[in-house]
Amino acid sequence: MHNAKMLIGGRWVDALSGQTLPVENPATRESFGAIPRGAAADVELAVKAAGDAFAAWSRIAPRERGAMLMQVAERLAQRQEELAQMIARETGNALRTQARGEAASTVDIFRYFAGIAGELKGQTIPLGEGVLSYTRREPIGVVGAIVPWNAPASLSALKIAPALCAGNTIVLKTAEDASLAPLIIAQVCQEVLPAGVVNVVTGLGEEAGAALSSHPGVHKLSFTGSTEVGKLIMRAAAERIVPVSLELGGKSPSIVFPDANEPWVVDGILASMRFTRQSQSCTAGSRLFVHDSIFDDFVQKVADKASALRLGDPLDENTDVGTLINEKQFKRVCGYIRSGLEQPQARLVTGGLPPTEGPLARGYYTVPTIFAQASNDWRIAREEIFGPVLVAIRWKDEADVIRMANDSHYGLAAYVWTHDVGRALRTAHALQAGWVQVNQGMGQSLGQPYGGVKQSGIGREFALEGMLDSFTQVKAVTVNLGV
Ligand code: NAD
Repeated sequence: MHNAKMLIGGRWVDALSGQTLPVENPATRESFGAIPRGAAADVELAVKAAGDAFAAWSRIAPRERGAMLMQVAERLAQRQEELAQMIARETGNALRTQARGEAASTVDIFRYFAGIAGELKGQTIPLGEGVLSYTRREPIGVVGAIVPWNAPASLSALKIAPALCAGNTIVLKTAEDASLAPLIIAQVCQEVLPAGVVNVVTGLGEEAGAALSSHPGVHKLSFTGSTEVGKLIMRAAAERIVPVSLELGGKSPSIVFPDANEPWVVDGILASMRFTRQSQSCTAGSRLFVHDSIFDDFVQKVADKASALRLGDPLDENTDVGTLINEKQFKRVCGYIRSGLEQPQARLVTGGLPPTEGPLARGYYTVPTIFAQASNDWRIAREEIFGPVLVAIRWKDEADVIRMANDSHYGLAAYVWTHDVGRALRTAHALQAGWVQVNQGMGQSLGQPYGGVKQSGIGREFALEGMLDSFTQVKAVTVNLGV
């Protein structure tokens, strides 16, 4: 059993209330540990610790901070397999196809930000010979960061590494369903960094999360999660006028042109839909727009490949697809599948409701599911399902498919598939999304600014620009040289 503690001010502690929350293995629905149920009183201590640590940490030269983050990366690399196993156990993401990749990317995130610490540069402003005017990129103070469960380790690293590199200290609130992997990162940070620089509070969103987002000692809020909770975070930030970055949900379109009826595109659609992560990905290309001339053939090929994926124990090396995270999501996703099945015009090409018998019925397993002949205004085509349900929509006219793709309150990612470069770039420029990929369906790359438009978020993380925009503030200093 894993009986975890929180990290506050360099000490490993229980919640002041003594209460805990169980940690469930989503593949078996059995509890295998507990985390502290942190609440407002614990957040109070964590924010105080981060505030106390700020002055000394922010004065360390940036490249020295970078060197410490590199030590974190190297120590974490030694524990990469342990981290991957823990991600697989607590999230249900398959070890081979997902969790190992996430653990590797977590190490990489620390390496990347460690390497760019020297780039926290200001500018000089040419106001004339008698004046020296320059800007400084200063840290903001205590960062309050809140992360979801779908990629708990890498998303935690994406808050901790840039915040610290820029000279801030942090209080991280992990997701109640996936705190153990982030706590491994916290252990490594604690071995290397001064006490109080990284603090991790576990607990429920409405308790620990709400207390952190409204705490007056927090100077910056960085949130990744649903649009619904993102709005609450933005409201809390507005109360105190603190800067806020929001990485929120998506319902991303994938547009297949008539010349793209090829096997590599089929593979790309599977990858962009993130079926091997049960599609619990904010960038999942979950609205598949296929040209009328190739629709039936292409959708059938996607369905054949999707149905060949092996579902099973997340820790088994032969498993391609693991489980959803918890019962709430399981019921939600099943509700969407039912809603699709109830549409008289919908054609279920593969999948459907989860197995009710056999070993898979023990866990929150859902089957890759594809509905064809879908309409862009159905509920399953408009709302973020965060489960393996792909809707395929037929199109004939280029202007029309772009209109349908943009007809969403989300704007996170988009995918375009064609050999015609002009058409691809015209479409990429017309799509309302923070990130468009042409002829590939990959996950985010470090160094490339990432974030959404519309209700998918505000701000960019993942890159040098993101660190500068989201985790520093600019001060101008103007000196009269004539005295
Ligand atoms: P969620 O919004 O329910 O929870 C995210 C975090 O917020 C959790 O730690 C939760 O405890 C906390 N929280 C919940 N209520 C809160 C409150 N009232 N005050 C403060 N904190 C609160 O999201 P989820 O279900 O954990 O994750 C799935 C969502 O995250 C999806 O919508 C997905 O698209 C989004 N997501 C976005 C990105 C991105 O980069 N844009 C990445 C991953 C996930």
